[in-house]
Amino acid sequence: MFTPSDVQIGRVHSQLDTLAQIGRQPSGGVTRYTFSPDHLQVTHLTAAWMSAAGLDVLFDRWGNLVGHSPGVGPMVMSGSHLDSVPNGGHYDGVLGVIAALEAVTLILEQGLPVRKPLAVVSFIEEEGARFHGLLGSTLAVGQLNDAEIDAIRDGQGVGFRDALADSSFGYPLTDFDFRSDSDSFLELHIEQGKRLERAGIPIGIVTSIAGPTFMQVTFTGQADHAGATEYEDRHDTLLAAAEFIVALRELGTSRFAGRGHMTVGKIAARPNVTNVVAGETIFSVDYRAADVQTAAEMAEAIDELLAVTAARQRVTWHAEIGHQTPPTPARDRIRSAVETGADRAGAAHQPVVSWAAHDTMNMASVCDAGMIFVPCRDGRSHTPEEYVRPEDIATGIAVLANALLMLAQ
Ligand SMILES: [Zn+2]
Repeated sequence: MFTPSDVQIGRVHSQLDTLAQIGRQPSGGVTRYTFSPDHLQVTHLTAAWMSAAGLDVLFDRWGNLVGHSPGVGPMVMSGSHLDSVPNGGHYDGVLGVIAALEAVTLILEQGLPVRKPLAVVSFIEEEGARFHGLLGSTLAVGQLNDAEIDAIRDGQGVGFRDALADSSFGYPLTDFDFRSDSDSFLELHIEQGKRLERAGIPIGIVTSIAGPTFMQVTFTGQADHAGATEYEDRHDTLLAAAEFIVALRELGTSRFAGRGHMTVGKIAARPNVTNVVAGETIFSVDYRAADVQTAAEMAEAIDELLAVTAARQRVTWHAEIGHQTPPTPARDRIRSAVETGADRAGAAHQPVVSWAAHDTMNMASVCDAGMIFVPCRDGRSHTPEEYVRPEDIATGIAVLANALLMLAQ
């Protein structure tokens, strides 16, 4: 079993630092859109490191990278992504790929016997900065049909299939299939929150990944003269939206405290004119919960609140669900491997919910899946300020290596 001092932290840092130079921005952050020259370069480099570590390198037909140890049968996998948001940090995704590579390298270097092949994975297009979020893993697990894939375009109108065909991976794309070849998937990722840092705990064992639901709500009232219309005669949709937003926050901090988050992030009033009462207001609601039951309760509570608010302001309401991902619980087999792995590494740990989406959600549809979180400074992520302490990286990798070893033996 591995402890943090077994991790070759110099090797890990040299890889992280090398990748951080590619797609580097004047701010110090990185921008790496899927299939951009910078994204292809980090992918090539990582493939070369996999190869040097004794792994067989392959790409599936969507450009997802897999480096696996010899052997047959479903693989024990770990990895994350190398694409970034515009001006993103050096650890989101990248740490999960490099940590997996180091963990598997440690296991191979010690010549420890494994029954199942170990694999390091990097998915394309996790961030959605070019096409859409979690695309690589969504394709890997076969959740899109041909027509849906044909329709995927970036902001410039370039089709996903064309962008893929124009990309050089240095290896042929294969028909490797995550659906049949995955035994388990364990992703190490920065927490992107402050809970671990505040608690002074280096390892978060993810119990569940909260699935977001995106709603669009329309309040319809009546546009009227802002001077001449008495308050009691108004059907003011912007006022109704304002009341709703405040009430939603109260609901979030009382009934749903600690169980999820509900947010209005986008709003448009019509006609959006200074001296006219807003006749129509359209706004978003993003809600996410750690479990299906809470998500259902939230949906009901939001509808109730919309109805009450609309009635009070004498407007009508209509809500549409644009996108919905159910919460994904981590599998017990994976959680207990991480827990035992942390105990054996001498690392303090606590259960955490992932409030952000990750590729693990998709992998959970084809195999047992789970996540390890490590703390990041001030909870900052998707910014050049992203930072993880070397000691937390070493601890995370030791725990990951222990867990992968148990899953593979
Ligand atoms: Zn990420």
